[in-house]
Amino acid sequence: MLIALAEGDGIGREVIPVARDVLSALRPDLEFVPVEVGYGRWQRTGEAITDEEMRVLSSADAILFGAVTTPPAPDYQSVIVRIRKSLDLYANLRPVRGRGFDILIVRENTEGLYSGIEKVEHDSACTLRCISRKGSERIARFACSEARSRCDLTIGHKANVLKSDVFFRDICIAVARDAGVPCKECYIDALCLDVLQHPGRYDVIVTTNMFGDILSDVAAYLVGGLGLLPSANIGDGHALFEPVHGSAPDIAGKNIANPIAALRSAGMLLTHIGDPGAGCLVESAINAVLDQGICTRDLGGKAGTREFGDLVVRELSRRTKS
Ligand code: NAD
Repeated sequence: MLIALAEGDGIGREVIPVARDVLSALRPDLEFVPVEVGYGRWQRTGEAITDEEMRVLSSADAILFGAVTTPPAPDYQSVIVRIRKSLDLYANLRPVRGRGFDILIVRENTEGLYSGIEKVEHDSACTLRCISRKGSERIARFACSEARSRCDLTIGHKANVLKSDVFFRDICIAVARDAGVPCKECYIDALCLDVLQHPGRYDVIVTTNMFGDILSDVAAYLVGGLGLLPSANIGDGHALFEPVHGSAPDIAGKNIANPIAALRSAGMLLTHIGDPGAGCLVESAINAVLDQGICTRDLGGKAGTREFGDLVVRELSRRTKS
């Protein structure tokens, strides 16, 4: 099985090698192909990603992605947004788990405010928020199929202001009704607060692209920060796994980034390729290291990125041998 590894920029270059070691420890049969993409590559070659990298990514059985820096420059296109769109990775799953809550944020990943349809003029700038029936129905179906084996569905939207969200919400309600999934709705701004105050009230949350992006960063507060949250980008033919965090230039190159989000993303990848047992082992090995009081600086500890990863690998080899 072929896994494409795109470290990207910043701390992506530190956490993905750690995640690769964990994958290799559990599944020595996996083959890895490195793919260089991102702002660093753009600075070096003038291109952040080419058709050749897209070809390698699309031919892999799964992709493990670090994070890329996206400078706020009008002529620079986000690499990760291009990959999500090109491979039609329409469902972005962001699990947020802790004591007393188990939330799955299902974010539409290909349209909405990240449509890429934009116009910047001297006195105005405009971004088109595109919500299609096809895009809304398929993300609602995806969320319902997750919610069916869990509890219920919450639709996060801003239908009191945006007509495009009346459209999105009504489609989600209709899909949930047809699927027999209990469903409630909440304005996204109120949801951002309530999810922090009462996380146990939420199960599967479906929402549009940018709202899901923001909500998942907000929800990271529940678990101790961005260094802990993994994600999966799923399409009908491809899948990409990446930490929720970005390239964190403020801490890059210092060996202090928390690798847990990348490790959990690798765990989701293992489950996706049909090895849920290995996915669970990753989680239990992470917890075993944390239970010894060992953690990175963002969680109040002193362990380095590499050191934490090595301890997880050691924990895994102890478990797989016994
Ligand atoms: P960020 O997630 O990179 O960092 C936000 C804060 O969280 C920073 O203080 C950072 O130090 C901290 N942090 C993030 N990950 C951490 C980890 N693993 N361990 C410890 N601390 C961690 O978000 P940002 O600063 O808004 O963005 C930086 C760059 O990343 C930007 O260029 C942005 O466009 C890009 N970005 C990329 C992706 C992606 O590739 N999918 C996602 C988000 C942001």
